[in-house]
Amino acid sequence: MAVTRRLRVDPVACDAFGHCAELAPELIALDEWGYPVIDERPIPPELIGLAEAAVRICPRRALFVEETATAGGPRRGRSTPVRVLGRR
Ligand code: SF4
Repeated sequence: MAVTRRLRVDPVACDAFGHCAELAPELIALDEWGYPVIDERPIPPELIGLAEAAVRICPRRALFVEETATAGGPRRGRSTPVRVLGRR
């Protein structure tokens, strides 16, 4: 079973001040209104720490890391959310 992690944002909770993109430009860009545009691909292992730091500095708790487990290989597998980091 493979576990992948992706950054997610709750656009309703986000205040669009862009602290996350300042800290982690490798993973997060900002749109013309200042809302984060998240890279939808799995977070590369070398950037997990940076993603978690961006989650921690989000003042609105709008940013989180979703872990998904995939069983049965990448083509046939079913993805199941297993854990969310950063949400309360
Ligand atoms: S730090 Fe949080 S509230 Fe601020 S722009 Fe990023 S996701 Fe939105």
